[in-house]
Amino acid sequence: MGSETRQLHVFFFPLMAHGHMIPTTDMAKLFAARGVKATIVTTPLNVPLFFKTIQRAKDLGIKLDIKTIKLPTVEAGLPEGCENLDMVLDSAETFGRFFKATAMLQQPLEQLLQEHRPDCLVADMFFPWATDSAAKFGIPRLVFHGICFFSMCASEIMRLYEPQKKVSSDTEPFVIPNLPDEIKLTRMQLPGFARGINEEVDFATLLARAIESELESYGVVANSFYELEPAYADYFRQGQSYECEGNILGRKAWHIGPVSLCYKNADDKAGRGKEASIDEHECLKWLDLKKPDSVVYVCFGSTSEFPASQLHEIAMGLEASGQQFIWVVRRGKTEDVEEEWLPQGFEERMKGKGLIIRGWAPQVLILDHQAVGGFVTHCGWNSTLEGVSAGLPMVTWPVFAEQFYNEKLVTQILRIGVGVGAQQWARMVGDSVKREAIEQAVKRIMVGEEAEEMRSTAKELGKMARRAVEEEGSSWADLNALIEELRLHGSSSKQGNNIGH
Ligand code: UDP
Repeated sequence: MGSETRQLHVFFFPLMAHGHMIPTTDMAKLFAARGVKATIVTTPLNVPLFFKTIQRAKDLGIKLDIKTIKLPTVEAGLPEGCENLDMVLDSAETFGRFFKATAMLQQPLEQLLQEHRPDCLVADMFFPWATDSAAKFGIPRLVFHGICFFSMCASEIMRLYEPQKKVSSDTEPFVIPNLPDEIKLTRMQLPGFARGINEEVDFATLLARAIESELESYGVVANSFYELEPAYADYFRQGQSYECEGNILGRKAWHIGPVSLCYKNADDKAGRGKEASIDEHECLKWLDLKKPDSVVYVCFGSTSEFPASQLHEIAMGLEASGQQFIWVVRRGKTEDVEEEWLPQGFEERMKGKGLIIRGWAPQVLILDHQAVGGFVTHCGWNSTLEGVSAGLPMVTWPVFAEQFYNEKLVTQILRIGVGVGAQQWARMVGDSVKREAIEQAVKRIMVGEEAEEMRSTAKELGKMARRAVEEEGSSWADLNALIEELRLHGSSSKQGNNIGH
């Protein structure tokens, strides 16, 4: 059969965390829309999180398959049913056990590969063993980090050069060497494993294995677009920096984002991710009454969870800013603490002016509404890119993961945001930020000349993002190139196999 007619089959295997499953589903949808058979692999309790997207895609004639494998939670010392990262972030111990459980997914995944014999495996960076699994079946393994080129470059440079070891205190800034821009950080802003914190040793080992397996893999697929960070997209691939000779990075990579732009209408956008805690129509009705660019959207992703004292400061800061807002408050452990974080009479005073969503918001639907004019974000890469795609200036409030790198991209390189002043990396809870800082930062992105300047740059970037995924755009072309390469790879290895038999 010719390479044009053979249907390519790709397996997509995200880490069981919303920030990984959501963009991976989008990616699978993009592949499927180009005629590829796309199968998502996950664990049973995570299946409902994909339902709506899969159903909506089906209505549009795009077929996505889903297959499950069992996560050995109990064997890893976790309670039964602990199948998502957002359930294990309360202690380093459970966090570690979760990753121990994921390492046991290799055998069941290989069984699925054996049964279905796909042509390619796109697996999360947190599954380093997936490169070996793909190799056993003679198929390419692509790595999905879920972060941008800038952060992939910065974190790899940090790993190679460890500039944080050359400063004498946690607050003394150092430059990340060999980057196209001068980027300064402090040790406090680095992940625990980069500061040598004991509890993070296992995680550091996992990340080191992830890099090794990435180097042996077929390449990296990135949720970004070329025009957003050309210097870093080139650097990641070509590996040369301005200051340094030789190939430092030099990965094979494809940019195919922003993947969230595959949602075209309101129903589609509302169905992305978890079931929203607010009726989408109610939310749109509220926004429809507001003037363009007059509402700030405040959300800290799917895993960050602030203490009551911090939520209280946010409420006071938002009120003092005088801006209208939608504020998403994740409630896990704080649920039983009966609303003690809300200042007295806050909701009555804010009636019509501020909307609190307790739980899960239809984020992309909200960001894309014309009434929204700014975004207070924890700088998770999905949220950051969704903010860019919506053309919004941002208040950056990094909490953990690679979010302090993303802040630098937004504030220093793209110049579409201002930092709230978070200085301390801390899993889930972040730094403590005072109401005055919140008030000032929100005002800076919403009103005045500086806000207008950032908004106009952000709007341009938003247009570029949409162009990138349209026909002949840079991400559209890179996805085509990747699919074509996988087709050729598939047919040549099948021929090779035939010769071998
Ligand atoms: N998200 C959402 N509603 C919420 C919270 C998050 O739709 O209330 C989505 C958001 O649009 C993004 C993802 O969840 O696609 C979060 O990923 P991100 O990388 O921003 O942060 P993480 O949750 O991984 O920290």
